[in-house]
Amino acid sequence: MMGQEISIAQLRRWLLTYAERVIENEDHLTELDTAIGDADHGVNMRRGMGKLQERLQEEMPSDDIGAFLRSVAMTLISGVGGAAGPLYGTFFLRAATSPTNGRSVDLAQLTQMFRYGLDGLQQRGKAQADDKTMIDAIQPAVEAMEAALAAHQSAAVVLAAARQAAHLGMKHTIEIEARKGRASYLGPHSIGHQDPGATSAYFLFETAAEVLTKTADSE
Ligand code: ADP
Ligand code: MG
Repeated sequence: MMGQEISIAQLRRWLLTYAERVIENEDHLTELDTAIGDADHGVNMRRGMGKLQERLQEEMPSDDIGAFLRSVAMTLISGVGGAAGPLYGTFFLRAATSPTNGRSVDLAQLTQMFRYGLDGLQQRGKAQADDKTMIDAIQPAVEAMEAALAAHQSAAVVLAAARQAAHLGMKHTIEIEARKGRASYLGPHSIGHQDPGATSAYFLFETAAEVLTKTADSE
């Protein structure tokens, strides 16, 4: 169905669920970054997610999605650190510039928000598909959303498509050689290991499919 609106409160619930999911998976993210990086992605993300939880709990509900997303971005840039902090921060900073209805977004605007974030992330990090980075989860997810939206699918279908595409993209990073970030120093030895950033990025779409569809369909 078209015309489903997703509110700031729903986006806030999504990001709180994301923070929880990442914190639950800290050890997993650390293991992945131990194999092909410097073993800090779990710690970096857990620290940033703790800051994000504090920020989302203390902050008065913002009345503008752009301002809300900018605040999320600043928290991630300062809280996560490493390569991933500025990259996730850029994703949300750029997402914050996409058109909204102020306090809500419709499905097309939500899809465009993710597209803006992806484009910003790529401009910042200069990674392409198949470089074995978080782009390998995010790009297929955004493309799947755009395709499902063009086919007039519901929010539930659009977000399920994003989750599935992000999951496949994350798994695909096992098979490819890293060409960006620390893992690229390993060259062909990076093959056989799942990318930590693609894994934390997958959780964005996993939790969006869980939280945004449920709330969007029931409210
Ligand atoms: P660091 O590499 O500084 O230790 P993290 O361990 O927190 O930072 O994050 C590593 C993740 O960052 C990688 O798994 C990869 O997904 C992502 N990454 C690194 N460089 C880039 C880039 N140029 N573009 C997109 N993602 C990148
Ligand atoms: Mg690292």
